[in-house]
Amino acid sequence: MAKMRRIPVAHFASGEEICLYIHEIVGKKGKGPLLGISGAIHGNEPTGSYVIREIAKHYADGNFRGRLWLMPVTNPVAFQANKRTSPVDGGNLNRVFPGKANGMFTDLLAAKVKSEFLDHVEAYLDYHTGTDRPTVDYTYVHNDLGLSRAFGTRFLFRPMADRAGPVFNGTSKAVTTARGVPSVTIELGGGVVDQRPYIDRGVEGIKNCMRYLKMDDTRPTPPIAQTVLGVLPTIYNTQGGFLYTEAPALGEEIKGGAVLGRVVSPYTFKTLEVIKNPIKRGVMILSHLTPNLVEPGDFSYMIGDLDGAEKLPGAKPKKGRHY
Ligand SMILES: [Zn+2]
Repeated sequence: MAKMRRIPVAHFASGEEICLYIHEIVGKKGKGPLLGISGAIHGNEPTGSYVIREIAKHYADGNFRGRLWLMPVTNPVAFQANKRTSPVDGGNLNRVFPGKANGMFTDLLAAKVKSEFLDHVEAYLDYHTGTDRPTVDYTYVHNDLGLSRAFGTRFLFRPMADRAGPVFNGTSKAVTTARGVPSVTIELGGGVVDQRPYIDRGVEGIKNCMRYLKMDDTRPTPPIAQTVLGVLPTIYNTQGGFLYTEAPALGEEIKGGAVLGRVVSPYTFKTLEVIKNPIKRGVMILSHLTPNLVEPGDFSYMIGDLDGAEKLPGAKPKKGRHY
């Protein structure tokens, strides 16, 4: 049975009260973990919120084991403004956990997310995207390789402090991993492209995670061959203007020195910057799939390093059975 919890965070000077919403669905098939799924910790990453809505519908009848706690919008004011950071105080919610009960607005929001949600879950999925302009496609490996694999992206990333890659302090998963809770950060979708294919993959990925956690008895998608990246630098454009990508599609290989994209002035039409791939044998993980307006210091690309990456084989097709 689905229940909705409304958690007041604070009143604004406008009189509006900002709240968090948790949808709780109790499985009727017996004992299992309490799986928490959060979306839109960054306000301009709504794809996870769409995915969570479909997960809520799919499991509404309780045909699973354990419990689901779904937080579709974790950063409501940033979500309304379609911004990565909070319009209230400029804070990045996913850098300030565990938060402070009497800090700046973003700190107290984090403290509320922690005390009402993160402190209770027994498995945790946090859904991010490439934001409203870039598109991304990978999954983090934090403390449960099987759970990360189950989500089903072809590329995974294992963060290590001494290597180039997106390694951050103060994230929501720092709260859950500190308690030993199996946790996965998903990075899938975003950009100025149809989100439907990403929403569909996100829903199937979460079902597979629930199958891995033995919450859902339906047949999992057979494991695909996957690659665990250890080096995954973010490349920032240093000039603003129109960014035109010349790189291949996400998941495709790209040679060192190849042009990723060009920033062109919308005023003079001159090329302001040519962005090149710094990785000898790279793979496209985040990219601008359409010509987009960018500011200096925006995320333009993420390139995985295939040299030294770990290959994980997929399921072998069984005789007489076709996947
Ligand atoms: Zn994010």
